Amino acid sequence: MAFIHRTFCEDCGAEVDDVFKHGPEVCPESEQNRKKRKADNDSWEKEYNRVSKAWEKWEKKNPLNHCIPSVSHLPNEIAVEGRCILVDDAEYPGELNDHGEPVADFRSGVLINPTWGEVALEFDKCIPTTGDYHHSFLEGLHQIKSKSELKKYNVAGDVLVLQFSTGS
Ligand SMILES: [Zn+2]
Repeated sequence: MAFIHRTFCEDCGAEVDDVFKHGPEVCPESEQNRKKRKADNDSWEKEYNRVSKAWEKWEKKNPLNHCIPSVSHLPNEIAVEGRCILVDDAEYPGELNDHGEPVADFRSGVLINPTWGEVALEFDKCIPTTGDYHHSFLEGLHQIKSKSELKKYNVAGDVLVLQFSTGS
């Protein structure tokens, strides 16, 4: 039986099998890595602010009522190359939404090279359509590839079908 030397990192508290594989030069919390940590954090913050500002500016011309776009993409960045439709299904079709209208599955028209801004506008229409106001954070898009699933959308072969990936 091998002897496993279990110990805890003094800096981050992680349980480490082998102290030699997790020394201060490796540990993200160590004083030794403080400068690097700060630099990483600063550049992340700078990028976050840059993208947030771009969305703020964009939203002045394109107000969103429901959708909260992710700051991992710029509004004018192409989200999907080629022809596509964006979809999402209502969880309880026929139930009434906040405006007293029955909810339904959402299907966008065919879009060509849509940007993340255009995707956000479609998702903004999708939310009251499906009535799912709880998942308003647009994380990204998920391509539907299964042939049997694709049948349901009845689109031409060159049209990609993408579902909104959401969070709350
Ligand atoms: Zn550590």
